[in-house]
Amino acid sequence: MRMEDLVALCKRRGFLFQSSEIYGGLNGFWDYGPLGVLLKRNVKDAWWNDMVVGHNEMTVLPGAPGKFEMTGLDCSIIMHPQVWKCSGHYDLFHDFMIDCRETKKRYRFDHIKGSWVKGLKHGENGAPASEVRVFVTTIETEQTREALEQAALKYFGLRKKDAASLVWDEDVVGIDSFPDGDFSNVLGPDAKHVGTLTEPREFNLMFKTIVGALGSDDDASFLRPETAQGIFVNFKNVVDSTRVRVPFGVGQIGKSFRNEITPRNFTFRSREFEQMEIEFFCHPSESEAWYKFWRDRRFQWYVDMGLASERLRMREHDKAELAHYSVGTADIEYAFPFLSEGEFGELEGVAHRGNFDLRSHSEGKLTREGDELVLEKDANGVPKWRGSGKDMSYFDDLRKERFIPHVIEPSSGADRATLAFLCEAYKVDSAPTADGGKEEERVYLKLHPRLAPVKAAIFPLVKKDGMPEVASEIYGELKKRMSVQYDEKGAVGRRYRRQDEIGTPYCITVDGQTLKDGTVTLRDRDTLEQIRVKKDDLLAELQGRIGR
Ligand code: ATP
Repeated sequence: MRMEDLVALCKRRGFLFQSSEIYGGLNGFWDYGPLGVLLKRNVKDAWWNDMVVGHNEMTVLPGAPGKFEMTGLDCSIIMHPQVWKCSGHYDLFHDFMIDCRETKKRYRFDHIKGSWVKGLKHGENGAPASEVRVFVTTIETEQTREALEQAALKYFGLRKKDAASLVWDEDVVGIDSFPDGDFSNVLGPDAKHVGTLTEPREFNLMFKTIVGALGSDDDASFLRPETAQGIFVNFKNVVDSTRVRVPFGVGQIGKSFRNEITPRNFTFRSREFEQMEIEFFCHPSESEAWYKFWRDRRFQWYVDMGLASERLRMREHDKAELAHYSVGTADIEYAFPFLSEGEFGELEGVAHRGNFDLRSHSEGKLTREGDELVLEKDANGVPKWRGSGKDMSYFDDLRKERFIPHVIEPSSGADRATLAFLCEAYKVDSAPTADGGKEEERVYLKLHPRLAPVKAAIFPLVKKDGMPEVASEIYGELKKRMSVQYDEKGAVGRRYRRQDEIGTPYCITVDGQTLKDGTVTLRDRDTLEQIRVKKDDLLAELQGRIGR
């Protein structure tokens, strides 16, 4: 599948538009169109239903160390600035960026990839040619190799047919792997001259905003970069206001904001996006087992929702990669088509966070010293950021023990999940047209029926003989219960194709026989199989096929 085909379909059929498109768009921001909003809502609903409201706290799920409860929250986007100081985001949540003095462009340091190449470079103003070796770079894409070759041809002033005169190093490596940070022989991604990249600099990813009309910089707050912190700071409220007992989890879906330096790859890296996060609170002695349970359960969820191919994988972080608070983390990753061959992008991180968050919001920002978490101090030995001073411990009346729960955090992105489902679903095959015509190419989205934006489309075979009346009656009945469309325009084969392209799993056609025996045809998007169903049984039939 070519990414540009999916991007074109998303625009053409109203899944995704660039934000503020009529003004040229705003990099890193996206709008979901009429079908996109349904698809993303279905992704979020499936998650919320499967993880939170549909959870049965009275049974032990396969692989779980015991029973557990689930509940939800919907917290504010702007929170007290101290939240971000104690969580570590204020000090630590940054990326390195690098500027190009020539083009004035800014890049994320770890996104620049390149390779050494040797060739003959003509001197300026007719000076003799000499052999030079430069590190040619590009922003990593699906076609990194091709982009590097083009940049090198341009730099050496060669035509494509002369490409063989260039001698390349085998490896494409990140510029961040340069041991001494000497970029004097580096050709920036869009530059004409070498040595124009600056030293990398740190850049905080949180969007700053001022709260209140008279706000000064002292009133600066931040748009949340993750939904998780709202759950931590409400831990006591949830325990005190509900009957949940540890172990329990709190789910939240909501917008998060990160001022990403190089937003790219469609919605994969946006500046405004939605997260679906769970903070699961448990006894320290059981945290390892719960971590494994959640890691496997979340992976299985993607499989069940249709990401069943070898493009989905789970990757455990090694020690060096772990965040400062984390005891263990696994990423659930998908081989998005815009990445280079063999590369995967993160869909979800499942992290064992220990008691870092609850303790930090109680005591003040912690840092790791060996195996211990200790209060971070400034140069004068004073705690750097003070916590709330509130007791975040939990008394377990069955164990007769007071402890600060450990936390397992499955943190996923609704937009990345939606994008992965779209990428996986995009299929091209050839099939005969429904009206018995010859085989022709068919583009369809093989979305799980729960995720499909439109569950069924209802057609009268022809626009006469009372068929439209029966079809619109069926449409009216089904519409009360699910998202359906009615279409009577054009040949029925074309109507099927229109629905295939937006992933509608079922098409219902009212034909001559309907008028005689009350049955309609039900066509399956994937198998193209058609069966006859009594029109009164349609709702139950569809509900059975779609699942919860
Ligand atoms: P990355 O390394 O790709 O920047 P991350 O490790 O910073 O991601 P987390 O902080 O673990 O991401 O956030 C949890 C989830 O939120 C990610 O797995 C992803 O699905 C989603 N997410 C994070 N940043 C973005 C973004 N800029 N655009 C869209 N989704 C995002």
